[in-house]
Amino acid sequence: MSIAENIARVRAEIAEAARQAGRDPAEITLVGASKMNDAAACREAVAAGIDALGENRVQEMTQKLAENAYDGVPLHFIGHLQRNKVKNVVGKVALLESVGSSELLAAVNAQAEKLGIVQDILLEVNIGREDAKSGFFPEELPAAAESALALKNVRVRGLMCIPPVAEEPHGSIPYFEKVRRLYVDINEKLYHNKLDMLSMGMSGDFADAVRTGATMVRVGTAIFGARSYAAV
Ligand SMILES: *Cc1c(COP(=O)(O)O)cnc(C)c1O
Repeated sequence: MSIAENIARVRAEIAEAARQAGRDPAEITLVGASKMNDAAACREAVAAGIDALGENRVQEMTQKLAENAYDGVPLHFIGHLQRNKVKNVVGKVALLESVGSSELLAAVNAQAEKLGIVQDILLEVNIGREDAKSGFFPEELPAAAESALALKNVRVRGLMCIPPVAEEPHGSIPYFEKVRRLYVDINEKLYHNKLDMLSMGMSGDFADAVRTGATMVRVGTAIFGARSYAAV
């Protein structure tokens, strides 16, 4: 299957899930998670109509930016971001999806201020309370979302999550539901319903995410094929 065929199939599955939930498929943004795929693969996805591309390693993104891999679509950063690499990401991406600590939030705001820009971001929620994952714990989120309102150089657009690896089919749904409730709550209480992005769902569970209210899914393997970790 080519990248274009894979994108068409993923789109069809998104559309079906959206219809099942009584939603308009056009309101779902398909982000291609292109890590470990080269610039040519990224360009193929762009040509096939992907809505955005997402990277999770700063060095790889920087290299592929120099190769014009993402020309034509918005670029997202979706991986764990260390504070010393903030300068390599802020201002270079349309959306920074993985702001998961107050320290990172402050560092992103400071760098955006230095550049004289407003950086669009998502707050990442560690919904499974996993040690290995970054993100705010659910109970930390309201305070973080409120503090972000006072920062002039970041604009929170919504929430992102990566739930624990599901043990059974549809195992992500309870986590997606929790994040959706947090999103609705923060949106109503703090953001005057201006938030418009709920990023959840990957290759194994994007249809469930769409049925649970995701407006953005991040799909890698189902578009680009299995990643070859040995090659990098
Ligand atoms: C790699 C990655 C994805 C996509 O994962 P697949 O299971 O390959 O679809 C989504 N989100 C993040 C943050 C990722 O790093």
